[in-house]
Amino acid sequence: MSSRTFPLRQGTKLVIKQGDITVEDVDAIVNAANERMLGGGGVDGAIHRAAGPQLVRACAEVPEVYPGVRCPTGEARITPGFHLKARHVIHTVGPIYHNDRVSAPLLASAYRSSVELAAQQGLASLSFPGISTGVFGYPWDKAAQVALESVQEALVAAGEGCSVREVRFVLFGQPLYDHFVEAAEALTAEA
Ligand code: ADP
Repeated sequence: MSSRTFPLRQGTKLVIKQGDITVEDVDAIVNAANERMLGGGGVDGAIHRAAGPQLVRACAEVPEVYPGVRCPTGEARITPGFHLKARHVIHTVGPIYHNDRVSAPLLASAYRSSVELAAQQGLASLSFPGISTGVFGYPWDKAAQVALESVQEALVAAGEGCSVREVRFVLFGQPLYDHFVEAAEALTAEA
């Protein structure tokens, strides 16, 4: 399985790898959830299966902000990881891709909110999937660029004392992995 490591600002380690996020041994894995937060297909379904039925019960206890909406698009919520190796699950909701003007700020917000929540909880290691790159249809080159830029920005905004020391992107398949590596090379070349 392919894996590459890059330095981010403030010494945070960035790992881009191919693999299955449900087996990650980190403080939190991030779930590409939906606003209801009661499970779904894709990575959401895989995480719920691996975590066990306690996860959906914990999600159901997250208060609704509107009827049927526990986590609005672009925001994040945290639960325990239950049977996962990961101690926590950060549930975030990316946008269904519409166009860059509308969708990019929402995707950036999903990543930023996840990093902020991890930092608030004092977590050190965090694994993301490619949010919105499945049924939500975000073009992979653009999704990778928004992902890396927004994570970098959130880490810089969190400042020197930020607890988050390692951020991983765990991607299904070589093509998506290649897009994230390309975006990471572009981002770290700028630094
Ligand atoms: P979204 O609705 O945000 O597009 P999906 O679950 O459809 O969410 O897909 C998000 C990404 O997660 C896709 O790139 C998909 O291939 C990937 N994915 C699905 N299962 C896993 C898994 N177990 N580990 C890592 N990535 C996964």
